[in-house]
Amino acid sequence: MAEIKLESIRKSYGRTEVIHGIDAEISDGEFIVIVGPSGCGKSTLLRMVAGLESITSGDIHIGDRVVNRLEPRERDIAMVFQNYALYPHMSVFDNMAYGLKIANVPKAEIQARVAEAARMLELEPYLDRKPRQLSGGQRQRVAMGRAIVRKPAVFLFDEPLSNLDAKLRVQMRLEIKALQRKLGVTALYVTHDQVEAMTLADRMIVMNGGVAEQIGAPLDVYANP
Ligand code: ADP
Ligand code: ADP
Repeated sequence: MAEIKLESIRKSYGRTEVIHGIDAEISDGEFIVIVGPSGCGKSTLLRMVAGLESITSGDIHIGDRVVNRLEPRERDIAMVFQNYALYPHMSVFDNMAYGLKIANVPKAEIQARVAEAARMLELEPYLDRKPRQLSGGQRQRVAMGRAIVRKPAVFLFDEPLSNLDAKLRVQMRLEIKALQRKLGVTALYVTHDQVEAMTLADRMIVMNGGVAEQIGAPLDVYANP
């Protein structure tokens, strides 16, 4: 269970403020897509929720906790990146298992969770391969698997499909939506692709110049530009 609440979030780099006070309330299990032009602060906002960037002021609530000062691994989130961020020297199995190993999850539990994720993502035949031996779509699935095995309440996606060709992008976006529904997780998804946003979003946050200009369902947002 995780609602997310953003309260007056601001971010400055040095003396330059790039996020100027964002408020949003996101329901448990909702799929939120963050859109807006390059440089408007999408990635910075997502990284602040992830705990990869500090916030300058404001509060971030995940579930019933204020997570402003918690490390990423303490936030009940998992993040999927555009470049997959897989460990090249590790097998698919070890890439998916790594976060669980360092969290001291028992071996049998790791085996079970990776097996389950591999089944869902149709990665079972590839568990012993290295990332370089996989297609782009398979690498993206491994990145998804690594997120799933942690059983987080919140999934964060930073342009996860940008490196895939058009056909695969459509297929993977359907898979992401289906997985999100099945797992019941809350999703925050950054993209600059409007079709992707329309297809995925329960609601969209439209950012511009460091502010949230609109928050609403895709049809409302595109009906009132
Ligand atoms: P988007 O993801 O929408 O393209 P970003 O969140 O990456 O935008 O960037 C928002 C603004 O913050 C931009 O003006 C960018 O130049 C600036 N910015 C991002 N990261 C840094 C950083 N580490 N140091 C200074 N400025 C940054
Ligand atoms: P590392 O070399 O990273 O320390 P280990 O060899 O200790 O990893 O393996 C950790 C666990 O993961 C072991 O129980 C091993 O059997 C299991 N494991 C590794 N690869 C696979 C795989 N492809 N399928 C199932 N289990 C695997």
